[in-house]
Amino acid sequence: MINIPKGTKDVLPSQSYKWQYIEDEIRKVCKLFNILEIRTPTFEHTELFLRSIGDETDVVSKEMYTFLDKGERSITLKPEGTASTARSYIENNLEAMSLPLKMYYLTPVFRYEAPQAGRLREHHQFGVEMYGSPSPYADAEVINAAYTLLSNLGVRDLYLNINSIGCPECRKKFNTALKEYLASNIDDMCDNCKRRFTANPLRILDCKNEHCKQIVSGAPKILDYICDDCKAHFQKLQEILTGEGIPFKVNSSIVRGLDYYTKTVFEFVTTSLGAQGTVCGGGRYDDLVSSIGGKPTPCVGFGMGIERLIMLLDANGKEFPSSHPEYFIACQSEQCRDMVRKIVSELRKKGHSAETDFMSRSVKAQFKYADKINAKYAVVIGESEVQSGKAEIKRMSDGEKQEKSLDDLIWTL
Ligand SMILES: [Zn+2]
Ligand SMILES: [Zn+2]
Repeated sequence: MINIPKGTKDVLPSQSYKWQYIEDEIRKVCKLFNILEIRTPTFEHTELFLRSIGDETDVVSKEMYTFLDKGERSITLKPEGTASTARSYIENNLEAMSLPLKMYYLTPVFRYEAPQAGRLREHHQFGVEMYGSPSPYADAEVINAAYTLLSNLGVRDLYLNINSIGCPECRKKFNTALKEYLASNIDDMCDNCKRRFTANPLRILDCKNEHCKQIVSGAPKILDYICDDCKAHFQKLQEILTGEGIPFKVNSSIVRGLDYYTKTVFEFVTTSLGAQGTVCGGGRYDDLVSSIGGKPTPCVGFGMGIERLIMLLDANGKEFPSSHPEYFIACQSEQCRDMVRKIVSELRKKGHSAETDFMSRSVKAQFKYADKINAKYAVVIGESEVQSGKAEIKRMSDGEKQEKSLDDLIWTL
């Protein structure tokens, strides 16, 4: 037997209705917010991710699926969705469309991680990007889109944490203060933090190591270092969110894992999965487009993992709507099969979902099957039904029967 590769998962027919439901809700919300879909390839030139995400991040330094193709080009399977969107924005001159441009993607992403509980090497992400507006109203717009989706899906115990990590100017000052504070402790910190200390000290605030966390808890807060412009932006965002009725908390420990963030960063977290977990993360990345060769373009966006969302909704006891056939037309004998086919076809032409027997089972077994697939109504067609032109429609939920002429069944349902 050939097994599925480590860290990947099949979405089975018995589960796919959950995916379809979430994807439908995503499309509905994006339509409400006038967010258009973009589809980018599954793989890109490796350089795109080195330049956009930052080569000191865990994603790039340890987790990318990178290989040489037959033309000796370094190719990487998308580890996230934002960089590809930015590449496409520049390459296709999308700024020539009227700005702002709001886009969403639904895409598989690949990270070579140790496949612990819930950590997949291929997972699926929904993300939104808004290009062209530096306004805090744009930040609030994408936060609102995420909030609307999560609320519509019925995610419980949802909290929004926001922070500002400033612009490169204020971050320079903060990095100096942070390094001053950490200098006497860095020898006690984990190897990752030691590496980050020179390359990107801000990421030390993100370390999950308990001892590092303890040291970091006394570190200077970035909000005390941001410039007037960044401060005003963050202040305004809070006012807009309050006005929109979106509850939030300012949480100075959020820095997000990727290098391209500027100013606003945010996370929707929930306690529904036991320990506090992130459902959705995002922020502003005004330097991303220019970092990969485009004109400076303000952007703000977020991403959320579909697998995680499903896990969360399952934990919330969510009843996902699923689709079942409306009619099961049972066939009593081979002589009636053509009549059954005709009824099934006519029902479908009229927009009713209909199913029948393909296994030459007994009528009793066919009813069992109809029950198993959750058909709403079942009808048996046999010699007597064909002769009399009448049949009984059985409602499967309570067994209630109603006699109808076959013409009615075909033409008037
Ligand atoms: Zn600033
Ligand atoms: Zn650490």
